[in-house]
Amino acid sequence: MTTIMATFIACGGKYDVHHETRLLLGTVIEITIGHPDEGLAREAAAKAFAEIERVDALLSGHNPGSEIGTLNAEGASEPTAVSAEVFALLERAARIASLSGGAFDVTIGPVMDQWKFDEGGRVPSDAEITAALAAVGTGKLQLDPARGSVHFLSPGMKIDLGAIGKGYAVDRAVQVLRDAGIKSAIVDAGGDLRLLGSRPGKDFWRIGVRHPREASRLLLNLELVDTAIVTSGDYERFFMDGDARYHHLIDPRTGYPAARCQSVTVIAPETADADAYATAAFVLGPVEGLGFLRDLPGVEGVIVDAAGQLLWTDREKLRQ
Ligand code: ADP
Ligand code: MG
Repeated sequence: MTTIMATFIACGGKYDVHHETRLLLGTVIEITIGHPDEGLAREAAAKAFAEIERVDALLSGHNPGSEIGTLNAEGASEPTAVSAEVFALLERAARIASLSGGAFDVTIGPVMDQWKFDEGGRVPSDAEITAALAAVGTGKLQLDPARGSVHFLSPGMKIDLGAIGKGYAVDRAVQVLRDAGIKSAIVDAGGDLRLLGSRPGKDFWRIGVRHPREASRLLLNLELVDTAIVTSGDYERFFMDGDARYHHLIDPRTGYPAARCQSVTVIAPETADADAYATAAFVLGPVEGLGFLRDLPGVEGVIVDAAGQLLWTDREKLRQ
């Protein structure tokens, strides 16, 4: 289960801040809108939630009627046509797979299935991991832009958009708020946040990020404007087997949870990218992960390594 990491610290101000919470995408979605007209804010929030539901219905691998569900069922037998929207998201995922040297890989589905996190989790055998890994690799995902089709080049392949879909849904929700005339808002999908403008009466939104080992302690307390901030942590979905912690951020090279970080927080213009970059940096580990984030223009991040040490891309750039 995903926990809520963001905590908003009230800053006062004249405007009413409209706040609504719903359970969607398997997590708690919170929308905060700064607007003097409560009716308009309420209407805008309803549209944004509806957009998140639409994106979920499109991308959810659990839903056999979704485009991704259909693709997972048919993509290995023949090139399968998908909507332009899904095609663009898969292309974006493939680009980030390549940028991260394969640390981020949406074809991780067959390996995720083996770990059964949804059913409490179990440690697969080496043979099960090896078999599942044979069907993993963005290189085996053939995207045909001319036909808008997707073909799995290996049987048993399965797309899992868990590390980018939520961020994408948040970006879409923010676009809907913008179209409704909102200039100040936060959309938070269980720790994947996008900020629109700043808090009314202030020139920033104050965002807290929880400590990966102490839920009630803040790791970061930042003043941010018009940006996305996403955290991937080993405490979000995990099970313990003796002293070993098995979590949901899987290294596609080994099929096992990546062990070198406790959490990675990424700040980037768009939530979909921040979401994927956070997973990628987590899998790459603190040294390579920090290098990866530093090479991305307009991106900042904070990594907590396995020993609890903080590594910053550029501490000066983040107003605390
Ligand atoms: P959360 O959803 O808890 O915020 P992430 O955004 O990091 O965390 O996404 C984790 C999810 O992404 C996993 O539950 C799984 O569905 C998928 N996933 C796991 N490992 C990878 C990986 N190396 N590359 C891409 N997706 C991954
Ligand atoms: Mg992610």
